[in-house]
Amino acid sequence: MKHVELIGVSKSFEKQQNVLNEIDLSIEKGEFFVLVGPSGSGKSTLLRMIAGLEDITGGILKISDKTVNHLPPKDRNLSMVFQNYALYPHLTVEQNILFGLHVKKTPKKEQQKRLKETADMMGLTELLKRKPKELSGGQRQRVALARSVVSESPICLMDEPLSNLDAKLRAHMRIEIRRLQKKLGLTMIYVTHDQVEAMTMGDRIMVLNEGKIQQVGKPITLYNKPANLFVASFIGSPK
Ligand code: ADP
Ligand code: MG
Repeated sequence: MKHVELIGVSKSFEKQQNVLNEIDLSIEKGEFFVLVGPSGSGKSTLLRMIAGLEDITGGILKISDKTVNHLPPKDRNLSMVFQNYALYPHLTVEQNILFGLHVKKTPKKEQQKRLKETADMMGLTELLKRKPKELSGGQRQRVALARSVVSESPICLMDEPLSNLDAKLRAHMRIEIRRLQKKLGLTMIYVTHDQVEAMTMGDRIMVLNEGKIQQVGKPITLYNKPANLFVASFIGSPK
């Protein structure tokens, strides 16, 4: 089943035209979809348009077969995890995790139930009363993930969520995110500029360069049959 669909989606800023060019894309329900490309290729802009944080200049964006071009972010049934975690420094871990549910006025009892489940699952139960500055980088990133998980949104968008972590923790978190996505059956759109991350995590990968799709396919296909030299050298295949 198609979950997120882009039809001829384009983006221009006043000072920068054609940041994204006629993007056609269809992402299946429950798929782990990776968006990869060099810095400045338009990955974050594309994700922000799907989230509703950025206007779409041209084309159509559909979620669950419904056109959502002008729907506000909160009505799109998705959650987003950013590179810099974006935790509130003055709030505790618990308050950070529950922030979205608090804004949506989810009943207190339901909030506590979901908090407990999420904290258990993410190994955060012991840390709920701490402030972000009392956490390690990995723990902060886990709080950011928990905030996304607790929303129970069927679509999760992540923009380079691991780029601030050291290599060992990054490797561990890749596995953790993948496990979580599978367990919850999430439709994941995951942005990275890291080829290894893309190849090890993605069910499918889209390679973007200068606002244009270079290739969409399974990791093995990109590796064995790169569509052009850019994909070949970016993915690191022998062609
Ligand atoms: P990536 O996430 O792949 O590094 P971005 O989506 O952040 O790329 O940026 C793609 C291009 O769009 C860049 O050239 C960037 O300068 C430009 N861009 C992004 N946001 C804006 C903005 N608000 N105004 C003007 N240009 C922007
Ligand atoms: Mg970016």
